[in-house]
Amino acid sequence: MLGTMHAWWALQRGDEVVQIECDAEARSASVRNFGLVWVSGRRDGAELDLALRARELWEQIGVRVSGLGFRPHGSLTVALDGAEAAAMQAYAAGDGARQRRTEWLDGAGARAVNPAVGGVVAGALWCHSDAIVESRVALAAMRTEMAVNGRYRFIAGRRVRERRGTEVIDHCGERHGGDAVIVCTGAEHDGLDAEHLSAAPLRRCRLQMMQTAPAELSLTTSIADADSMRYYPAYEHLDLSGLAPQPPVAVANRMQLLMVQRLDGSLTIGDTHTYDDDPTTQPFAFDVDEAPYGHLIERAEAILGRSLPPIQRRWAGVYSQLAPTASAGAVYHHGEIEPGVVAVTGPGGRGMTLAPAIAEQTWERLGT
Ligand SMILES: Cc1cc2nc3c(=O)[nH]c(=O)nc-3n(C[C@H](O)[C@H](O)[C@H](O)COP(=O)(O)OP(=O)(O)OC[C@H]3O[C@@H](n4cnc5c(N)ncnc54)[C@H](O)[C@@H]3O)c2cc1C
Repeated sequence: MLGTMHAWWALQRGDEVVQIECDAEARSASVRNFGLVWVSGRRDGAELDLALRARELWEQIGVRVSGLGFRPHGSLTVALDGAEAAAMQAYAAGDGARQRRTEWLDGAGARAVNPAVGGVVAGALWCHSDAIVESRVALAAMRTEMAVNGRYRFIAGRRVRERRGTEVIDHCGERHGGDAVIVCTGAEHDGLDAEHLSAAPLRRCRLQMMQTAPAELSLTTSIADADSMRYYPAYEHLDLSGLAPQPPVAVANRMQLLMVQRLDGSLTIGDTHTYDDDPTTQPFAFDVDEAPYGHLIERAEAILGRSLPPIQRRWAGVYSQLAPTASAGAVYHHGEIEPGVVAVTGPGGRGMTLAPAIAEQTWERLGT
């Protein structure tokens, strides 16, 4: 998505663009994610500002590219007990909630906004700013729109092996030259421009996900559970000491529940987090572990008050994220490798959200 968004902005500027993808169709983080444009969780300051700008841009792009499936549906972060409700009410009373267009709803209010919330819930934070896109088809939809412009060329199935200044050479030996090269290779820190990326303050994070069969119910918002307050920096100033401890499986896998309905009615549900700078989870598992899925199903069913449809797909994905050693306040990695050559990666679990605004910033920084 970062590569695609950079192509999008370059075309808006009037540039000619060649986008090179090593897979026949992208298969990495940008198609494995929830497709959540998630403003609610972003940290105050530069990160929130960028997310708000990105949210605006997603809406504009969604109008031009209907195949993206952009929906301004907002989200409910649901409290299942009094302690979770108290923390959320404290949050809703603060300035952070106002900036993110978030309000507190009691249980009946949450059900009124999203009738699929049929469980016994104590209330919810309703964030009006959050939105959804269809990640499995968004890249192709944007490319179809860009292809209308004769200045865009997408080359799939070619791995860029080498870069010499602003010329790159793919694995078939074909050379592609330009005035600028934007390296958006995601979590491949040891591939193209490995010297730069492997020395940058970046780490990799692996997540487990699943998808149900199409559900009969209709989710009018995406849904998070209260564990997302432990995970997202928007809530970092909240006192969460009153919350009941998470079960061991959720602690071990650093879990929260996120649930979003796809256009075909199925539910995408996750997630877990393991990091490549944590020796206990290295190397990353090649298979998916069943235990976290049981926890996610339990939480989702408690919120919906009914059984989930059968699970049809399970997968894992890896994203690139700024390491704790990155400078305070940095939101993603923007590395100028040499004049006209920039590596852009490391947006972490907010990369889908931020992609349009990150690409806009890259081109502003590069100038003409
Ligand atoms: C399971 C999961 C759920 C997530 N959920 C969300 C969410 O809901 N909302 C959100 O905001 N973010 C989410 N994220 C994070 C988000 O998906 C990523 O931050 C974002 O997709 C990163 O985009 P990218 O383009 O940098 O990386 P990628 O999607 O990894 O793309 C990099 C591309 O570069 C290609 N490539 C690499 N090397 C070469 C080479 N040498 N030559 C040619 N091509 C090359 C790869 O094939 C790949 O297609 C999630 C991530 C995961 C894994």
